Amino acid sequence: MARVATSGLALLGGEPAVRVRDEGTFRWPIVTPEMEAAVLGVLRRGAMSDVDVTQQFEAEFAAWLGTRHALAHNTGTAALHAAMFAVGVGRGDEVICPSLTYWASCLPAYALGAAVVFADVEPDTLCLDPADVARKVGPRTRAIVAVHYAAHPADMDPLMAIAERHGVKVIEDASHAHGALYKGRMVGTFGHAAAFSLMSGKSMAIGEGGMLATDDRRIYERAVLFGHYERHGSLELDDLRAAAGLPWGGVKYRMHQLSSAVGRVQLRSYPAQMAEIDAAMNLFWDLLEGVPGVRAHRPPKGSGTTKGGWYAPAGHYRPEELGGLSVGRFCEALRAEGFPARPGVNRPLHLHPLFEDVDVYGDGRPTRWAFRDGGALADSLPVTEAVPGRTFGVPWFKKPNRAVIEQHAAAVRKVVDHHRELLAGDQDADVGGGTWGMSTPTRS
Ligand SMILES: *Cc1c(COP(=O)(O)O)cnc(C)c1O
Repeated sequence: MARVATSGLALLGGEPAVRVRDEGTFRWPIVTPEMEAAVLGVLRRGAMSDVDVTQQFEAEFAAWLGTRHALAHNTGTAALHAAMFAVGVGRGDEVICPSLTYWASCLPAYALGAAVVFADVEPDTLCLDPADVARKVGPRTRAIVAVHYAAHPADMDPLMAIAERHGVKVIEDASHAHGALYKGRMVGTFGHAAAFSLMSGKSMAIGEGGMLATDDRRIYERAVLFGHYERHGSLELDDLRAAAGLPWGGVKYRMHQLSSAVGRVQLRSYPAQMAEIDAAMNLFWDLLEGVPGVRAHRPPKGSGTTKGGWYAPAGHYRPEELGGLSVGRFCEALRAEGFPARPGVNRPLHLHPLFEDVDVYGDGRPTRWAFRDGGALADSLPVTEAVPGRTFGVPWFKKPNRAVIEQHAAAVRKVVDHHRELLAGDQDADVGGGTWGMSTPTRS
């Protein structure tokens, strides 16, 4: 059993609650001798710029996910850019996206001459609120980007229904949620297209890379056309073949084969790794069930909806249950206990000057509403704007190591139990937590 400190808060001079140091519980990415051998094989053949290993990886990825097509890219950002083009996003169009995400979910729209319209999220899932999406759909909406945020599946059924009703396409950004299930089915199989980041901080970690997945042959071929000129010989649709040979996007997006070689190995080990992460993270939150002020960010048990690899795990924070203690002060006390907490998650994108003010194309108004003739959108996002003060990043446990996890849970209980002692020194300085370019909130 873990030793649990019984003294006062470490921030106020007591003993820290977390005493074990166990790198193995947190280490990421996990690079195996099999990955090293796969990379050496590519290097020794000089096959870094070929596509043979990449095509094997794509076939295996599509089989794992259950989609007809998978197209590997050199980054997740590239896969999102290509997905937007492939579903038809172009000049003067709008893409609806949550503001609570990493910028690559929406900014590639700017490289296609389109604008971004932000919709609010639901307070429990931190994913798109379908009711707000329905309010934000306009005549120029071409696509909705549904982000499975911090590995929590977005509510795909109503989002697909809205898209259907308005004739718009849905792109799933599954960069946080490899292997997560929505009502028993893998995320990335609901939208017209899906994109996954596979960079090394993500739960499926292959180096740098991204994957576009779709069941739709035309979407797949348009993505090939966009950034994979070396594969234009495989195009089947006549209207696309007619202008093959040069990349329509003016970009070169193929995956480096050192990444696809790692990817083939990572994909085989992923289900077992994911199961360990899921067990570890659920254990952590089970230990905190019923503790005031904190809540797991996870789907209800038994719902058939799961978090897969739990990328960027966060907890909900409810200051009203802890005398109004700010999340910044709460996290400061946790860090003193040896628990690497950070207030907030991603900082809401719509508050960044690039979205508030910048006129990227010189249209005479901020690009965010460049194509709204009525002027600025009244797009307040009250739930999103509250998130920085109502969430905190928690450690990403990769192994269900009970002793380590119990000590971290004990640290949270201890800070909660002693929260009154923290109110005096609470300057509220850290509220507004989160970062623009978050990759992982806590790395121990
Ligand atoms: C990481 C990430 C991306 C971009 O992927 P890269 O591989 O880093 O280009 C896109 N969307 C989300 C939500 C991400 O977290």
